[in-house]
Amino acid sequence: MAFEGLAERLQSTIKKITGKGKVSEQDVKEMAREVRLALLEADVNYKVVKDLIKRIRERAVGQEVMESLTPGQQVIKVVKEELTELMGGEQSKIAVSDRPPTVIMMVGLQGAGKTTTSGKLANLLRKKHNRSPLLVACDIYRPAAIKQLETLGKQLDMPVFSLGTDTNPVEIAAKALEKAKADHHDYVIIDTAGRLHVDGDLMAELTEMKEKVQPDEIFLVVDAMTGQDAVNVAESFNEQLDITGVILTKLDGDTRGGAALSIKAVTDKPIKFAGMGEKLDQLEAFHPERMASRILG
Ligand code: GDP
Repeated sequence: MAFEGLAERLQSTIKKITGKGKVSEQDVKEMAREVRLALLEADVNYKVVKDLIKRIRERAVGQEVMESLTPGQQVIKVVKEELTELMGGEQSKIAVSDRPPTVIMMVGLQGAGKTTTSGKLANLLRKKHNRSPLLVACDIYRPAAIKQLETLGKQLDMPVFSLGTDTNPVEIAAKALEKAKADHHDYVIIDTAGRLHVDGDLMAELTEMKEKVQPDEIFLVVDAMTGQDAVNVAESFNEQLDITGVILTKLDGDTRGGAALSIKAVTDKPIKFAGMGEKLDQLEAFHPERMASRILG
């Protein structure tokens, strides 16, 4: 499970301070130091950690905490609130266009989980929100990717729009939109091409597609297991495409959690969903507060 190491360390740090009837500045200092080390070890971005620790220390030695009857618990509350804030504070909901269909572009590097997550998202929209999505296969460079999406569509009993590998992806996306309108789909989920690395051609294609279909959401799918790399990828996709949100995949693996804790701070874009397994129903809305509770026990 994700965050295991981090959770263990933070929880043992916290135990030391929770029961204290009186908390000194020295106690706070020591706690902050241990929290800092635990976060760095979990691969959270250095600058993000620095800012976070500064805020925690300032608040923890403040009157509100020191003069309370249960200062130990108040300190923990501060840590939890700050972690929640770091991951985006409130849960961030998916857009709904007032002129359907709502268009979602799924972008990301190859292997991040883009195609699987497109299927999962369509499934979730239908199951939880009673929507009727159209999946669109725009990765023309890997015929296997189109096949993969079509297979997912069959499993879900959901339509997949594809024009094979000979039509330009921007054209495919535009045609899919027309089709969605004609067939009264209220969501269009476009599975775009991935590459092994961020590259200029891919970004140019995605930018052109963005201009053409005017998406309501551009979700960057990133693999939580890749830690700081995921954060760097998010930064560069965001710079070039101005994404609207992030979907973190593979949070079920033994990821150290750094990506989940850094991405919002670095990109200022919310994590909207989390992939918790390979199955098509294993996509969850991302709740910063619940995640913080999970980490702090
Ligand atoms: P794409 O190249 O970005 O389209 O990636 P795929 O959708 O093909 O996914 C790559 C691999 O990651 C596949 O084996 C997926 O089953 C797996 N995968 C995707 N999301 C998750 C997740 O949340 N948890 C786990 N454990 N595996 C995932």
